[in-house]
Amino acid sequence: MSTFEYAPAPESRSIVDIAPSYGLFVNGEFVDGHGHSFKSISPSTEEVLAEIAEADETDVDLAVRAARRAHSRVWGRMPGKERAKYLFRIARIIQERGRELAVLESIDNGKPIKETRDVDVPIAAAHFFYYAGWADKLEYSGYGTESVGVAGQVIPWNFPLLMLSWKIAPALACGNTVVLKPAETTPLTALLFAEICQQADLPPGVVNIITGAGETGRALVSHPDVDKVAFTGSTEVGRSIARSVAGTSKRVTLELGGKAANIVFDDAPVDQAVEGIVNGIFFNQGHVCCAGSRLLVQESVADDVLDRLKRRMSTLRVGDPLDKNTDVGAINSAEQLAKIRELSAIGEDEGAERWAAPCELPEHGFWFPPTLFTGVTQAHRIAREEIFGPVLSVLTFRTPSEAIEKANNTPYGLSAGVWTDKGSRILKMAGALRAGVVWANTFNKFDPTSPFGGYKESGYGREGGRHGLAGYLKGEARR
Ligand code: NAP
Ligand code: MG
Repeated sequence: MSTFEYAPAPESRSIVDIAPSYGLFVNGEFVDGHGHSFKSISPSTEEVLAEIAEADETDVDLAVRAARRAHSRVWGRMPGKERAKYLFRIARIIQERGRELAVLESIDNGKPIKETRDVDVPIAAAHFFYYAGWADKLEYSGYGTESVGVAGQVIPWNFPLLMLSWKIAPALACGNTVVLKPAETTPLTALLFAEICQQADLPPGVVNIITGAGETGRALVSHPDVDKVAFTGSTEVGRSIARSVAGTSKRVTLELGGKAANIVFDDAPVDQAVEGIVNGIFFNQGHVCCAGSRLLVQESVADDVLDRLKRRMSTLRVGDPLDKNTDVGAINSAEQLAKIRELSAIGEDEGAERWAAPCELPEHGFWFPPTLFTGVTQAHRIAREEIFGPVLSVLTFRTPSEAIEKANNTPYGLSAGVWTDKGSRILKMAGALRAGVVWANTFNKFDPTSPFGGYKESGYGREGGRHGLAGYLKGEARR
């Protein structure tokens, strides 16, 4: 526990200029929607930030038409080396306006400024740089060079700008045009990105941003003139999208939930493993699809690891997302907070033991302390279901094969972590774990060159790397 108080070190929000209201970004311009509007709030203060247009079916149709025109007349015909220039330009503007994007993301989403500044924004720019490099080299992709057409893209609220970049950069590099719907609670960085598209002189209609809630998303993915659907979000909505496009010629990629095992063996460097556990579950308030939400720790070292983990958790600073010292920010919405509380209460009812880091939570806004549950069994709902918050379930194991069995005993298959001193064990575990990404002696590392995606209920298709081009090109896969 810290023995002295830190002075607050808030980042100034004067760099961002939030308008009282926002329209939709269609065909290169901000236009009024035909539907209602809704408010985006700051989850750390509950302050209303702006009034946002809610796109209805007419708006969705106008956006898809704009994207279709831009694809057939301009973008789909443009040589890759010309498209690349726009992507490079967007990447550079994201860097130039990085502080503005980081502050705005922290305000609208509630995540700490050190994460938006050091993770979300730099990786978003890196995605545009990386896919800019592919635009004139698609003949080496293995998936042909012909674009699919219009992509309808729907993203969640946990990494608003980053998920936008994962979706838009590969789509544009391959010559597709897009209509993207950000999440209802986090539309502001997507709207700033629309401004960046204008600043980069991107031809009208290549990128369209339509704000709204689930109904807008449903109208977009079911629009008959959308060729490709890319979705990141919950398994439940992913399933309904898979059903709605079944029987059509639409291509689909789904990035869904996860319940990753973070496995600590008795020979792991304990302090590093503890940092990895903390990063795995408390990064981004645990609102991470690949979060290490199930800690599997070898029984012989469990007491030691848990002691050190609790000590480390007690030093986490929870509070103002704009404070540069903050480790854990606000929960994104009242709904998500209610979900985390409900599942945590169920954990206690089922007999697991709850421990929360001692910390003072701010009076306004949505907050949940870093929490862990011990005495968790595989049958417990907190071991099986996504909590999507700063809550860790701890289970123990005795042998590597027991660890593999427990780690794979989940309907999901997105990611896993392995902590051990032995390289041979890392290789064996990586082969045996049924997860799209396996990190060894690290966790939550992302790079645009590396494909990301899941097995089983975690979805299908890959984003990032060469594999991330597959969904946006017409050619059959060639290895
Ligand atoms: P969600 O409810 O599935 O929402 C995701 C997006 O889909 C939002 O923009 C949402 O709109 C929209 N949507 C809702 N209903 C829809 C429908 N019927 N048709 C089309 N779109 C619809 O998920 P969430 O709770 O916001 O996000 C958390 C989930 O995302 C977690 O389960 C997490 O694991 C998953 N996730 C996965 C990855 C990955 O890469 N695998 C990454 C991040 C998050 P509104 O929210 O605006 O209403
Ligand atoms: Mg918000």
